[in-house]
Amino acid sequence: MKDKLLLDAFSALSLGVIIVDAQYRITLWNDWLEAHTGLAASETLGEDFFTVFPDLQCHRVGDAIRQAIGNNLSALLSQSLHRSPFPLYAEPARPAARLSQAVTIVPLGTAERFCLIQIVDVTTTVRRESLLRDQAHELLSQSLSDGLTGVGNRRYFDLCIDREWRASKRNNKSLSLLLIDVDHFKRYNDCYGHQRGDECLQQIATAMRNALDRPTDMLFRYGGEEFCALLPETHSADAVEIAERLRTSVQRLDLPHINSPNRIVSVSIGVASHNQQQHTEYGQLIQSADDMLYVAKRAGRNKVATRQPQLVKSL
Ligand code: GH3
Ligand code: MG
Ligand code: MG
Repeated sequence: MKDKLLLDAFSALSLGVIIVDAQYRITLWNDWLEAHTGLAASETLGEDFFTVFPDLQCHRVGDAIRQAIGNNLSALLSQSLHRSPFPLYAEPARPAARLSQAVTIVPLGTAERFCLIQIVDVTTTVRRESLLRDQAHELLSQSLSDGLTGVGNRRYFDLCIDREWRASKRNNKSLSLLLIDVDHFKRYNDCYGHQRGDECLQQIATAMRNALDRPTDMLFRYGGEEFCALLPETHSADAVEIAERLRTSVQRLDLPHINSPNRIVSVSIGVASHNQQQHTEYGQLIQSADDMLYVAKRAGRNKVATRQPQLVKSL
């Protein structure tokens, strides 16, 4: 009566339960397993565990069963390393993806050793976790990117410059910053309307992003019609070259701007590079780039300016 009750209880469990003996023969196989493997207890009882599950012979599950029988040791299988060791399916007749499983293996008995294997279906939990992770990732990237242009926003820039500034000091590596401002953009809006102005900013951002080819170089919308690029491990001369590439990428868009002296949309760029003597905090690097942007504007716009006068480029 007690045995019958126990077997009924095993059948009613919503987890898989297998017991193997010291010769690795299956001595208990509950209904949950039949429902998820398609194998009935009549087909598996008395069979060698590794004949039923040949793939588990050289698997962490096989090792854990041998350890339980041979050395009386329990094991909880890491879910990240062994997500779906058993061939278990929601519908074994139409096997799609394996169920995600949490597997524990426990020795039983003293005189005669057995091994209890418990398998819990954690598919829903794993799916929910992955969904939450994706949503968190999406929210994070939304909160760090600019809604209009898709490049990094000001908040992301603040995080990145702080991180790159510290890395540059720690490793004694160069770091350059470009401050980029669209020329006569107020006039552009006045002439073509705010909507066209927005589209223009999108095109400028895309062109400049495509002009940055190193994965470590980052482009941000600093605010309004101002952008900035952070160039880790980049010396002043290389930064000027990159700035020049960005400037020409906007020029090549050839977007008409009849109220600009150049008749096309253009940007001015100030370049500053981390200098251990001159800059003790990154705010000073930003200030240097801003000073150079002012120089580029004063020099006639559609220009790149740095501290070295010979490096001022022009149309
Ligand atoms: P300068 O060459 O000296 O930079 O002249 P500017 O007209 O570009 O400079 P100013 O700072 O006077 O004007 C910037 C303009 O940029 C004014 C503002 O309406 C426009 N602007 C800022 N953000 C946006 C935006 O998100 N969309 C649009 N369409 N315009 C913007
Ligand atoms: Mg501006
Ligand atoms: Mg401007």
